[in-house]
Amino acid sequence: MKSFERFDLDPAILKGIREMGFEEPSPIQAACIPAVLRGEDVIGQAQTGTGKTAAFGIPVLERIDSRRRVVQSLILAPTRELAIQVSEELRKIGRPKRVRTLPIYGGQPIGRQIKALQQGVHVVIGTPGRVLDHLRRGTLSLEHVEIMVLDEADEMLDMGFIDDIEAVMEFLPQHRQLLLFSATMPPGIRSLSQKYMRKPRYITVNRGEVTVPAIEQAYYRVLESAKLDALCRILDSEDVDLAIIFCRTKKNVDELAENLQARGYMAGGLHGDLAQSQRDRVMSAFRKGEIELLVATDVAARGIDVGSVSHVINYDIPQDVESYVHRIGRTGRAGRTGMALTLVTPREMKQLRAIEEEIGRQLESRELPTLEEVAQ
Ligand code: ADP
Ligand code: MG
Repeated sequence: MKSFERFDLDPAILKGIREMGFEEPSPIQAACIPAVLRGEDVIGQAQTGTGKTAAFGIPVLERIDSRRRVVQSLILAPTRELAIQVSEELRKIGRPKRVRTLPIYGGQPIGRQIKALQQGVHVVIGTPGRVLDHLRRGTLSLEHVEIMVLDEADEMLDMGFIDDIEAVMEFLPQHRQLLLFSATMPPGIRSLSQKYMRKPRYITVNRGEVTVPAIEQAYYRVLESAKLDALCRILDSEDVDLAIIFCRTKKNVDELAENLQARGYMAGGLHGDLAQSQRDRVMSAFRKGEIELLVATDVAARGIDVGSVSHVINYDIPQDVESYVHRIGRTGRAGRTGMALTLVTPREMKQLRAIEEEIGRQLESRELPTLEEVAQ
């Protein structure tokens, strides 16, 4: 049996999966769902965009007893955007089963979250700092948690959340399952798993192939001073649906977003110094297609899953290969194709070669479109 029916799930969960439009489990889902349902601790590694959320989300939802209004599962995610996204996906799949999910993250008034928690929720999806805050205030209890998930674990470690994560772990009951999902497996993840997991099952899909083949990858060699013009030419000649454009710093994000707006593009900036309400506004406009170009820093764009992102453009070359893989993983999701384009100044060619070496693939070198080509 190819479909989700083979997992012997609650009919309400199957209904939720159908409503999402999922027909067949992705490889990571096919491997993880039965292991989690059997009660195993799982370390899941798969490329970005391969359905890791539902790989843990489906068995988590299956195990919820919706008649008991207590938190039965806690999911930690690195950013507010990701917490919201995961919560939404679980809310949709869990709707026929009446599962209540709640995202909690910094930047939102804590009082509102406390009220929402008091209403009774089954699954909490939160960023580590804010979850810890609630635990210390006693406004969140993990007493009844059966499954804890660390989503995008590599990102959380990168962002320095390790102490908060470990502090949260202290609040967990003895008997619980721990699941850890990550696109890459740096050493920190291994030590975390050794410390907290019991005989974890490693589930790796597409080992060795760090980037998704459906993403076409190319670069343009440009002078620093010509980057803005180069970007505009690329945008005008490519068939862009939605694009995420990455910059190295918050200041670069602000400047580029402004420059693009001044040239008539529908662009919006996203970075960590903006007010939460502003970030939410930009993300929701981007999801609706009211903004076509999302200009962002690495951190702000982590894990974002917007289906129709056709292009990822590295306006500033990423500092390391992990960042490259995560950035370009924002396109080519759920079996769609995507285009990842990188602007490289002559001085940065070395960095480009290092990235190519690590991903085991050469980027196609492209000439900038000429003005005539742009005009067509
Ligand atoms: P990852 O966490 O691995 O980067 P996500 O869980 O965010 O990936 O999933 C990427 C996209 O694929 C989402 O839009 C999700 O709804 C979709 N998706 C997940 N599983 C399936 C499936 N079995 N069939 C079709 N689409 C799926
Ligand atoms: Mg994910």
